[in-house]
Amino acid sequence: MPELPELQIIAARLTSHLAGFSIKKTVVHNHIVVHGLPVDDFESKSIGETFETVVADGKFLIFNLTNYDVVLNLMLTGRLRAIPRYKRPTSYDMVSFQIEDLTLWYSDAKKMGRIYLVNKGDYSQVADFEGRGPSALDPELTLEIFKKRLKRHNGQMKNVLRNQRFVKGIGNAYADEILLYAGILPFRKRSTLPDDEVEKLYHAMSKVLSRIRDIISKRSLDEIAIEKRDFLMVHNRGGGICPLCGGRVSEVTANRFKTNYCQTCQK
Ligand SMILES: [Zn+2]
Repeated sequence: MPELPELQIIAARLTSHLAGFSIKKTVVHNHIVVHGLPVDDFESKSIGETFETVVADGKFLIFNLTNYDVVLNLMLTGRLRAIPRYKRPTSYDMVSFQIEDLTLWYSDAKKMGRIYLVNKGDYSQVADFEGRGPSALDPELTLEIFKKRLKRHNGQMKNVLRNQRFVKGIGNAYADEILLYAGILPFRKRSTLPDDEVEKLYHAMSKVLSRIRDIISKRSLDEIAIEKRDFLMVHNRGGGICPLCGGRVSEVTANRFKTNYCQTCQK
């Protein structure tokens, strides 16, 4: 599942591919991902619209068009590719937008993603969009604001970090990475965290996410789409070696979500 660092790079890449180009043809290949309006309207209203910018908003991508916004939540397996020719759609392809000399494909193996076409700036119909916190990579998210927001959220630290109402943009994988770097066990209750650990967590969050963004920024859209996350320190590394201490990485699975951590580095 792409999280904020990937989405920011994907948005920048797509902006450079798409800005200024108009949509010649929109085809919904699978209606299951289209929400908020009938498929026919999705197709007809988007044709003739021009791409302005693509921005990452937490775990959403927003494509700003002339009169509308396309809002996309890629969820677990959504992928975007810009291909310089039209190809035959596969069962994974959900929606395609044909522009000048390339086609933007949104594909989704598990078909759990959601795509909307909304009036510019009106996100009231987009599920899980409103009521979210500031972006985890927002330079205006200061330690003071972070501390204040954290106090409103209880429960285990991994769940707090993944809660978009606390800060937006962090998912299952990078929550594990941030907690390793902060030295905090994922199951620790928020209320047990003293001030110095909250501070550590804040710095770990921006350090880990911006390091990942730097790594991803050197990769192509296709490379990002295949999600080769070879830079992960602890997530998906169960049974492997912790890069910080050389100990074994532990693994727990709950509700289909994997959590990895280091019993030596994290308390
Ligand atoms: Zn360790």
